[in-house]
Amino acid sequence: MRIDKEKNRIKQELKRLFKSMDFICDNYLTTKEDVPEKDIEAFADIYQQLGVAWEFLGLQCRHWDGYRRTRDKKEACKICGKIRGTDEMHILLPKNGHKKVGRKQRPSSKKTFRNKKEATILDDTINFHGARLNVDVHNSYKSKLFGSKHEINIAAERTVKLTERGIECYLDEHLIYIKMGKIDKKGKKEYGGFPWELRKKDLKNFPVIFDFDENHRFLGLTILK
Ligand SMILES: [Zn+2]
Repeated sequence: MRIDKEKNRIKQELKRLFKSMDFICDNYLTTKEDVPEKDIEAFADIYQQLGVAWEFLGLQCRHWDGYRRTRDKKEACKICGKIRGTDEMHILLPKNGHKKVGRKQRPSSKKTFRNKKEATILDDTINFHGARLNVDVHNSYKSKLFGSKHEINIAAERTVKLTERGIECYLDEHLIYIKMGKIDKKGKKEYGGFPWELRKKDLKNFPVIFDFDENHRFLGLTILK
């Protein structure tokens, strides 16, 4: 029922829009009568703006009635006229409720590509209510990291990076890494180690709580800030 209502609304709005576009076209853009040059420009502009409205209305269309063949052997939606399989320039999201952008992608090839650009499947970022989220999915590629002369192979990977209040949380297939904001590192060395490698006195500097079950299986951790 809700879908029928939505479909009818879109159909109606598109009908009105197409009527307006035809009106402008027939009366001002293709007319043989004298229309001042200035007016033609203004109406051509209006026509363009209606084209933008068409694009946005088309984003709401779910192409419920299927497609019809066009003269150039493409398939166009019977409702909005959008050509099947063309890339959309915008994404339409509902203001309330669950928002979904894209689908989950993973590396897609066993091949090693010449560079990151060729290996990239997706590298996209969204700033969502102040939090920054980046998803980077790429196949394996060759790289000259750290200015070295030798090429190394960068593994195929799907990485997700969330940044909030300067803290970066980075996830890929093999590790989860959290970087605690901007720490003044000038001239200071960085170290890393497992907890059992550190002295108890040094461990006390780290505000980390480990979660575990009765078998001391690792369940998670909390970092206090
Ligand atoms: Zn459609």
